[in-house]
Amino acid sequence: MLYLVGTPIGNMGDFSSRAQEVLSSVDIIACEDTRRTGLLLQNFGIENKLFSYHEHNKFSKGPVLIDMMKQGLDVALVSDAGMPSINDPGEDLVKLAIENDLDVTAVPGPVAAITALVLSGLDTTKFHYEGFLPSEGSPRKKRLEALTKFEETVIIYEAPHRLMKLISELQKYGFGSSKAAFCRELTKKYEQVLRVTIDEAYEYFTQTPPKGEFVICLSPLPQKQGEDISEEDLDVLIREMSDKGMSTKDIAKDIASKTGRNKKEIYAYIVNLLQ
Ligand code: SAM
Repeated sequence: MLYLVGTPIGNMGDFSSRAQEVLSSVDIIACEDTRRTGLLLQNFGIENKLFSYHEHNKFSKGPVLIDMMKQGLDVALVSDAGMPSINDPGEDLVKLAIENDLDVTAVPGPVAAITALVLSGLDTTKFHYEGFLPSEGSPRKKRLEALTKFEETVIIYEAPHRLMKLISELQKYGFGSSKAAFCRELTKKYEQVLRVTIDEAYEYFTQTPPKGEFVICLSPLPQKQGEDISEEDLDVLIREMSDKGMSTKDIAKDIASKTGRNKKEIYAYIVNLLQ
């Protein structure tokens, strides 16, 4: 059996008694950093065997853990902090365990993203978890572009030395006046939640260089509302554009941007109308 066990993101009081019981009773604990997990266990008087399982050895060590479980051993997986699988290794082992018909259960603990979201004061009904953006280049630009399209609160993880870069980029992508919450050192002594716009954050962090661990919650950009066009008017408009010699592709693009409708669906509609 595989146990996914949450550990504190700062405050040791958040280490649940069930997490402690499970980590004491399983046959082996797979962890990212044996020294770090060793210290956590030592603090709580837990003695058990540790097995190194991290981003760089997960493909070779995953099958070893699966074999142990197939032989009937119970394995617990912990990350350095928070829940395994959330921006930490875990996902692959869970998939492997499921493929091998092994039982998987979770002992939930704190997650920095959710802790930040509930403290943010922003909309919590729907949210998008982004985690870390790719560090640079076009993969990063693509994700920044994608963020402009979301209609729900976005949750981003970022390292303190890269925070100003992120804030400047968010300004460039139109988020300057968007509300945000910069959640720092959650559950720790110097916990701070800065509820400001992105422009205000730029000013603040220029004066006070960011330190510690951060989660950023960001409210979405207002999305363009499409024009409401009746089917009849739409057909007239399409025919007019076609008579002017516009290609089906260009008509679809134009109507999609005017109405907010899906470009592929509009394209198919035009083809059907004009045949
Ligand atoms: N598995 C973790 C979880 O459940 O949230 C996330 C691990 S991820 C490798 C580390 C990132 O999580 C940090 O860079 C920071 O963005 C965020 N984080 C972790 N602990 C935090 C804390 N106490 N306060 C603010 N952010 C935290």
